[in-house]
Amino acid sequence: MTVHEERIARARAEIERHELDALVVAPSPDLVYLTGYDPIPFERPTLLVLRPGADPVLLVPELERPLAAASSMGERLELVAWRDGSDPYGAAASILGESARIAVVDRLWASHLLGLQEALPGASFTAGSPLMGRLRAVKDTQELEALRRAGRAADETFRQIVELSFQGRSEEDVADDLANLLVRNGHLRAEFTIVASGPNSASPHHDPGGRTILPRDAVVMDFGGELGGYYSDTTRTVVVVEPPEGFEPAYEVVREAQAAAVDAVRPGIETQDLDRIARSTIEGAGYGDRFIHRTGHGIGLEVHEPPYLVEGDHTILAPGMTFSVEPGVYLEGRFGIRIEDIVVVTEDGVERLNRSTRDLRVVG
Ligand code: ZN
Ligand code: ZN
Ligand code: ZN
Repeated sequence: MTVHEERIARARAEIERHELDALVVAPSPDLVYLTGYDPIPFERPTLLVLRPGADPVLLVPELERPLAAASSMGERLELVAWRDGSDPYGAAASILGESARIAVVDRLWASHLLGLQEALPGASFTAGSPLMGRLRAVKDTQELEALRRAGRAADETFRQIVELSFQGRSEEDVADDLANLLVRNGHLRAEFTIVASGPNSASPHHDPGGRTILPRDAVVMDFGGELGGYYSDTTRTVVVVEPPEGFEPAYEVVREAQAAAVDAVRPGIETQDLDRIARSTIEGAGYGDRFIHRTGHGIGLEVHEPPYLVEGDHTILAPGMTFSVEPGVYLEGRFGIRIEDIVVVTEDGVERLNRSTRDLRVVG
């Protein structure tokens, strides 16, 4: 069995376990995970239909049949083509047959879901993300190797960026350097490069702009890219020349919170427990209401994917799961602090995929 055949077999078992009749997968990381086929999502539907008792079928626009046939799973999937001017949802309905409970992946376009609903008025539709999220959360050896390489390339990027000067340059400028370094260190492309300086660092997803970086700024850098289909995502907060007023105690709190959550990672505990551990450290130091986001997110074929380290997420950690641990404290008008590493759950604990220093770095 190829890796994709094995994943499809596991998906079909999950469909049965969830008492569903079918799973419909549109072009997305879910389709890549199951088949390796990665077409661009369009208004013309491409739909993989998985059912427990039947062979998998890929419904494709006629003009993309050669593309689908040439993909790694092309020979092993039954391809059903539909032509422009015919009804693709009617074709999907005949593949789905008597299916009454149908799960769809998150990235099925609303227009396609509406088309399916109209073609199958008796069927009920439900989210396929619990099922797909569970499958994709545990990474295999090859996936872990790609994530390790991405993590090392991101670490090398941080090591190099702090050697450059920051003061007098714009956030955009430093963000460009980060993007170039991510690629130079082995990423296929940079995916995001947040550089948030001074008061801007209090906005967790700040879009780097023209602000000139000054001495006594805190600078949050959150960056990552794609390597072998998998992503890196790491954050470090540095200070320019000297820390701003009140920065150092807050930095220590975030560092302790991040370390406590990472140290607690092991099979058997729930994702929400990690959020509680990081949050209680920050609350204990009086910054509880300034930690304004969850503690982390799964990572793999997407930068953000299940499970989430957040109150109410009961995912039980298992070996091979990969996610970020990224607590932060944000003081409006003054500065923000975030420290983020990707980790893997091992048989008896944790492996860090980012090893950049978490000691406070002063840049010039
Ligand atoms: Zn984020
Ligand atoms: Zn990040
Ligand atoms: Zn992240």
